Amino acid sequence: MSIFTRIIRGDIPCHRLLENERVIAFLDVNPLSPGHALVVPKEEKVHLHELSEASAAALGAALPRVAAAILSETGATAYNVLQNNGVLAHQAVMHVHFHVIPRFDDGRGLGIAWKAAPIDHAAGAALADRIAARLRG
Ligand code: 5GP
Repeated sequence: MSIFTRIIRGDIPCHRLLENERVIAFLDVNPLSPGHALVVPKEEKVHLHELSEASAAALGAALPRVAAAILSETGATAYNVLQNNGVLAHQAVMHVHFHVIPRFDDGRGLGIAWKAAPIDHAAGAALADRIAARLRG
């Protein structure tokens, strides 16, 4: 059982922001900035792509509301939404969660190393075709 399931069950305390039938949001215990929050489905899945449509829809509805309230209260005007899947992608708690991380002009917030390179259009077109076929299927 993940630490977030224990929070959902009320076995571990949290600073709760929002809760409904499918979603809970609470402050991160090790925040990158004031207001850093986690938005968590009650459904026990490790990865985003494993979630039911009902959980995904509930998360989609909760995220903008939680972000707006955090911005209003902290005075931040910028924020990142981060969602890690897998240890390689920096996931530490194996229960789906979205981070909402306010960014302040003094540097508090999420630091990003964006290792981008221009796309190879031929390879990109072929890859897009194959992924799109999976989405249709
Ligand atoms: P990730 O799995 O995306 O790397 O991040 C997990 C996040 O959960 C971390 O930011 C960590 O501080 C937070 N976290 C881990 N355990 C607890 C806990 O017991 N309570 C709360 N509120 N946050 C936690």
